[in-house]
Amino acid sequence: MQPQKSQKIDLTQDYPCPCRRRGRLSPIALTEAFGCNRCQQIFVVDETGQVLEQLSGSYPYKRAWRWNGHQWNPAHAGLGESYLPVALGITLIMLIIWLPLALNAKSSSSGIVLIVGVLLLAVLPALMVLLAYRR
Ligand SMILES: [Zn+2]
Repeated sequence: MQPQKSQKIDLTQDYPCPCRRRGRLSPIALTEAFGCNRCQQIFVVDETGQVLEQLSGSYPYKRAWRWNGHQWNPAHAGLGESYLPVALGITLIMLIIWLPLALNAKSSSSGIVLIVGVLLLAVLPALMVLLAYRR
């Protein structure tokens, strides 16, 4: 077994694509980027020259890999998995803090506005996270 040491990414050579469609990453001329012939994604090499990042606006977080000489390994392992519980936890805490305040203000005219605001604040981040993870 080879040690999992990451190697510098060579911008003049081809690599297999980390997309699992057996694509081929080829350097794009005059840029520090690679293009895949299968998934049509663009990948850029970061300033350290060791991390390959997917160039995509559809993900809330960047997918990145390190090259160990044989295959791509996820560069930010665990970040994606820890994001969802953290977001849900923040939402829950916000609900616990704000809901009693909103209910107390119910008698005043601003009560309904406050409740709607709290619900939007609490539900929107959860929805965004859920939508992001549907892909
Ligand atoms: Zn690909």
